[in-house]
Amino acid sequence: IHSKKALLITGGAGFIGSNFVAYMIDKYPDYQIINIDKLTYAGNLENLSGLENYPNYEFIQGDIADQNLIESIFAMYDVWGVVHFAAESHVDRSIEDATAFIHTNIVGTQVLLQTAKMDWERKGELAQRRFHHISTDEVYGSLGEKGMFNEKTPYDPRNPYSASKAGANMLVKSFGYTYGMNIVITSSSNNYGPRQHEEKLIPTVIFNALSGNSIPIYGDGRNVRDWLFVMDHCKAIDLIFHQGCTGEVYNIGGGNEKMNIEVVRTICSILDELESERLAEINKNSFTELISFTKDRLGHDRRYAVDDSKLRQELGWSAEEELKSGLIKTVEWYVKRWKSLAKNH
Ligand code: NAD
Repeated sequence: IHSKKALLITGGAGFIGSNFVAYMIDKYPDYQIINIDKLTYAGNLENLSGLENYPNYEFIQGDIADQNLIESIFAMYDVWGVVHFAAESHVDRSIEDATAFIHTNIVGTQVLLQTAKMDWERKGELAQRRFHHISTDEVYGSLGEKGMFNEKTPYDPRNPYSASKAGANMLVKSFGYTYGMNIVITSSSNNYGPRQHEEKLIPTVIFNALSGNSIPIYGDGRNVRDWLFVMDHCKAIDLIFHQGCTGEVYNIGGGNEKMNIEVVRTICSILDELESERLAEINKNSFTELISFTKDRLGHDRRYAVDDSKLRQELGWSAEEELKSGLIKTVEWYVKRWKSLAKNH
């Protein structure tokens, strides 16, 4: 049994979770950080390279829906907080088959809640120790040209992924209402940045462009998303985990509403400058020439935008990264990754 108090992070080998683990280890060297991740296709230990030897860090490979395993973690460590990222996260996969989404996003969340509740209740700390659930603005559904989601917008999920996340949010809230558990939920807009799985839009664009393949854009590319740099998201989670009010939901936005096609064009123009030699090798004048429009995703939400004034006013947070500078950092990271993958093949 470890005597130190531990922060349990789930899904810390994924995109946002791995950025968060690195950020927390750097900022809070006194915290003991336990990262549980099943390492599905989306989890990658390379995202955490360099942290293995850090003395206050522990990685456990396992499934959050495995009740025995979660109970053993709570028995072994004095878990004083949970930040719950682990999820099946890709909308297209949920449209193909929702089974894993229900297992991880709903059952997994319930197992974590139940185990934390029992452990903290036994210690008389149910109202003190915090369960922070990471969610998405997709639970609110889709918007027309105008308006924004706020924390009071009723859930109206449109695909199995967002339905499973909305279900998880409801469960988390219910543990707050029913047992007085100290829960908090954050719903953020689309994240971008280093360490994202290659199946998602931005890495797909960069990898296809560098390989000289066509860059697929769903429908007319005019779907609007609000883009949040992953490090800004991590900073908001840190702030809300420590200072957010019990039982509350906070939206986290990037303040960068853009159509997918605009984001893709910006990435191509950054690549045109950074990778002019590669451009010459594939006989193009601009990577934008590779853009091609494909059949739209089923139930493709038209626009998401979140009103995060509650977070800005109550906790003084704001997104710091401009979209252009965040995209430059992101493109540079994936170019390096693409080159190292190309070298190893
Ligand atoms: P990701 O798919 O990159 O990472 C998910 C991680 O969870 C992976 O490492 C995977 O191995 C792990 N995992 C999956 N099932 C598991 C299980 N049963 N047990 C233990 N680990 C399991 O996802 P992400 O983009 O980093 O998203 C993290 C969280 O943030 C999710 O809850 C997601 O809904 C939410 N979110 C993401 C975005 C975004 O733009 N990426 C936006 C808003 C909210």
